[in-house]
Amino acid sequence: MVILDGKKVSNDIKNEITVQVNKMKDKGEKVPHLAAVIVGNDGASLTYVGSKVRACERVGFESTMVRMSNTTSEIELLDKIKELNQNDDIDGFIIQLPLPPQINTQKVLMAVDPSKDVDGFHPENFGKMALDMSTFIPATPFGILELLDRYGVETKGKHTVVIGRSHIVGRPMSILMGRKGFPGNSTVTLTHSHTKNITQITSQADIIISALGVPNFLKAEMVKDDAVIIDVGISRVPDETSPKGYIITGDVDFKNVSKKASYITPVPGGVGPMTIAMLLKNTLLAREQRM
Ligand code: NAP
Repeated sequence: MVILDGKKVSNDIKNEITVQVNKMKDKGEKVPHLAAVIVGNDGASLTYVGSKVRACERVGFESTMVRMSNTTSEIELLDKIKELNQNDDIDGFIIQLPLPPQINTQKVLMAVDPSKDVDGFHPENFGKMALDMSTFIPATPFGILELLDRYGVETKGKHTVVIGRSHIVGRPMSILMGRKGFPGNSTVTLTHSHTKNITQITSQADIIISALGVPNFLKAEMVKDDAVIIDVGISRVPDETSPKGYIITGDVDFKNVSKKASYITPVPGGVGPMTIAMLLKNTLLAREQRM
């Protein structure tokens, strides 16, 4: 069994990006600038945005964190997006989700200039991705592709089962694994909360990508021998023995599933760090496209 070490690979990617940023600096060019907008005080969201900003500093990007209160109106957020769209100094920006209930998420994501949409959530970019055109691929699916690529995991002709159909992970992942190319050329089954007999489906999978957010959902008996297991889930499970009062747990019962898997991502240290690295890669791409 091989651990797909997202921490190591993401560090390699960050080092590669740092080299490119240093070259830009040497030539006197502007370095990439990522802005992150966070509305409200959700603890997990603040942690994610903090990690993204620190990652920017690590590779030599400029970064800006825009904090807005929990009572921000939709109009106020749309005005802020307009400002970021027009700000020539910003190459790309993200709106950290989830947003408070008074704000229509779809409307907000539609307002982001597609050329600055480094999360790849705008319908224009999502459509380009589905049509195999060059675009910003959403960071988590992009990170999974990169992990599969760097470890040389064969995907052609394999049966990939994706669990979860969210717009940010499961749905794009199912499209990407079925596209012509590598990683891709898989036969894909997309499952969700209405899927019947899910064990019957997962136990036929060569590759399982689990993105539902239910801790330890995928058990050893749901997996065939030598399957490739990608665990996207991040859940905070209460744990009195941990200083934070919780531990981060994935969708996969790692202890038992890892005994059967050929490749598996750990949680933490698998898909999570890859997501941040690929956001940086998209931001670098956004800068290059604006040169
Ligand atoms: P989401 O929007 O919460 O959607 C969950 C999906 O799982 C839905 O499609 C839902 O089906 C499906 N689902 C729920 N219960 C199910 C069941 N019992 N059987 C089969 N499918 C079921 O999910 P998300 O935003 O993609 O996030 C999923 C997990 O990944 C969360 O733990 C999140 O924190 C984590 N995540 C991690 C990263 C990372 O960087 N590692 C990035 C993003 C998200 P319906 O559509 O029918 O409701």
